[in-house]
Amino acid sequence: MSETADVLIVGAGIAGCATAYYLAATGADVLIVDRGDVAGEASGVNMGGLGGRFPSESPTLDDALSFGSVGLFDELHDAGHDIEFRLSGSIQAIRTEDEFAFAERQIANASPNGGAQLLTAREVRTIEPQFSAELLGAVVFPKFRGEADPVKTTKAFARAAEAKGSRLSLSRTVTTVDTSGGAYRVETTAGPIEAKALVLATGAWSAEAGRWLGLDIPIVPVRGQMWATAPLPPRTFHTFSATESPRAWSDRSNHAADGPPNLTHIDGQRVCRHLYGRQNAAGEIIFGGDRHAIGFERRVEAESIATNKAQATEVLPFLREHPTAREWSGFMPFPRDGKPLIGHLPGSDNAFIVSGLASSGFGRGPMAAKLLANLIASGTPDPVLVAADPARCVTNI
Ligand SMILES: Cc1cc2nc3c(=O)[nH]c(=O)nc-3n(C[C@H](O)[C@H](O)[C@H](O)COP(=O)(O)OP(=O)(O)OC[C@H]3O[C@@H](n4cnc5c(N)ncnc54)[C@H](O)[C@@H]3O)c2cc1C
Repeated sequence: MSETADVLIVGAGIAGCATAYYLAATGADVLIVDRGDVAGEASGVNMGGLGGRFPSESPTLDDALSFGSVGLFDELHDAGHDIEFRLSGSIQAIRTEDEFAFAERQIANASPNGGAQLLTAREVRTIEPQFSAELLGAVVFPKFRGEADPVKTTKAFARAAEAKGSRLSLSRTVTTVDTSGGAYRVETTAGPIEAKALVLATGAWSAEAGRWLGLDIPIVPVRGQMWATAPLPPRTFHTFSATESPRAWSDRSNHAADGPPNLTHIDGQRVCRHLYGRQNAAGEIIFGGDRHAIGFERRVEAESIATNKAQATEVLPFLREHPTAREWSGFMPFPRDGKPLIGHLPGSDNAFIVSGLASSGFGRGPMAAKLLANLIASGTPDPVLVAADPARCVTNI
């Protein structure tokens, strides 16, 4: 006898756990399976930054995912889950005149509702005293930018899903899917499961999962690497990034011809530096940046960490005094065309995907999950999902 479920979700990251929560809230019988633990991969090792940056005048899919998710983090926090959620605001450092002009153009093209402001270093230091006086300034996002603990948040979605009746089966690897009998017969390392609908929330492993269904899903793993200081007393208040990488990525020549976009390295050569970081509730200052599309290589590279730490120290000079206490890496699901995949998989009414959330899947995951859950429950996609339709890029093998 197979175990059964109305909807089987493969992957207990933020995408899978949040989808389970919003689906279970509609009354669906949901089973989540993961070969590891809840938040055992990208959803547990990310920086924890969330929120949007420059909202467009006519809202885009990305606006809906990033700004919409902020409200969902807030709801989870208000429901009593300790997820360390804080609307901290964010600072995007500016180093050169060229970056300053680029940031001016970004702000000019954005909706004023986003509240982004261009400040001099002196002005930035009034709200973030450790910000370097040597830099030209920063774009400050006082609204809709925040942070939360990645493990606590993903586990909170899993717990909230269980409270609504979802089941969770961990240390259980999906190996194959048989679609011949009408339902999905899914083979796993802990026995078969028969499900009426299947959701792939398999993150960087989505191409492998696509092969179970005979589909080519163009999502590649991109390694992110991070480092942390030992816990320190409160020294910084915002999340941080730098204008250097968005400026570099605004130039098409800095992308590989066959994607994915927005990497720091192409064919082993550095295109630019990239920076994101914050001080977490434990007091650690955590930063990361480099993005390599070199397969499932977990090694942390000394050069990547040194380059990133040098860039972080340009923004926050006090970091010079604090050695690195730990380092880690994880795999982000980067779609080759840069857009997420949320919706029906082609060739089936009952197979779905929520993936390709790339470098901002923690912050965009909850709304991606809610939109997919609404589609599965109602049968009708929200119009904003047109840009995320998997049919644009998923093909038969
Ligand atoms: C270093 C780093 C920093 C980041 N910083 C940020 C940030 O600040 N803000 C932000 O928004 N995003 C950030 N991201 C990106 C974000 O973490 C990801 O986009 C997001 O977590 C992806 O979630 P997911 O649920 O799609 O994938 P994952 O969390 O990777 O979950 C996929 C799950 O599928 C399971 N799985 C795969 N194959 C199988 C199988 N065959 N059987 C059973 N289970 C399977 C895996 O075990 C895994 O648990 C960062 C990522 C990294 C690596």
